[in-house]
Amino acid sequence: MNDERRADEPRVAGRVIFVGAGPGAADLITLRGLHALQQADVVLHDALIDLALRRHAPQAQWIPVGKRGYCASAAQTEINAQLLRHAARGAVVVRLKGGDPSVFGRLEEELEALHAAGITTEVVPGVTAALAAAAGTQRPLTRRGSGRSVALSTAVTRDGELAAGRRADTEVFYMAGRKLTELSRRLLAAGWPADTPVLVVSRALWPDQIASEHTVASLPSASVLHAGRPAVVTVGVGAGAVGGMPLRADRPQAAPRSIGP
Ligand code: SAH
Repeated sequence: MNDERRADEPRVAGRVIFVGAGPGAADLITLRGLHALQQADVVLHDALIDLALRRHAPQAQWIPVGKRGYCASAAQTEINAQLLRHAARGAVVVRLKGGDPSVFGRLEEELEALHAAGITTEVVPGVTAALAAAAGTQRPLTRRGSGRSVALSTAVTRDGELAAGRRADTEVFYMAGRKLTELSRRLLAAGWPADTPVLVVSRALWPDQIASEHTVASLPSASVLHAGRPAVVTVGVGAGAVGGMPLRADRPQAAPRSIGP
């Protein structure tokens, strides 16, 4: 966009389009998300997105604002301020978030800040990590007759505590990768039987996806395999194999019982 607007030119209202980039690989974005990128003047993006998406918005200014639990983080208030600043000067801003913006994406805070300033917003959904893990391992989250409900949970509460309950037939935990031992303990305490199937999938649907199967009791043994990688932990009915199909172990870089997409 052109910042050197003439004084008598009517001010064009900026807007912010929140776009779910999907779980990683660039081709998992929706067509609507792609169209939003093509119109963007500015793209504020998370750390976990595939930068191959840049070629769909070469005209835009790309600004990383990634926050990861264990990396240097840009404070949320700073992200809100940047969204406001660019939209207020008339830019079409795409806020590109990993997975789906509505799932553990701090969308609420950003929408609140923009709505308070009267800025128009739109949300384009994306493939959330739980769905990517199910697809990447061919293990459906719901099962006819036995798996009638799915819960998406974060294992980590606001004050950094780990929490786990038993709210659904299948429960998918986000942000638990570094606390699998504690998660196992909490799941047992919440009443999940020790032999309940558990699936851990890291970098779901990336070429280097790793998936491994465990039980609630043996979950701590997954820690090393998935160390330092974004992972979801699926517990319960949806973690089980379909028709006895084992996880494929055909990725040279993956450990035994690990798979690629
Ligand atoms: N909005 C995102 C979630 C952001 S929270 C979504 O809808 O997916 C970040 C957490 O998402 C990570 O800690 C991890 O638990 C999970 N995650 C993101 N990408 C992932 C991937 N490709 N594979 C497995 N887990 C992933």
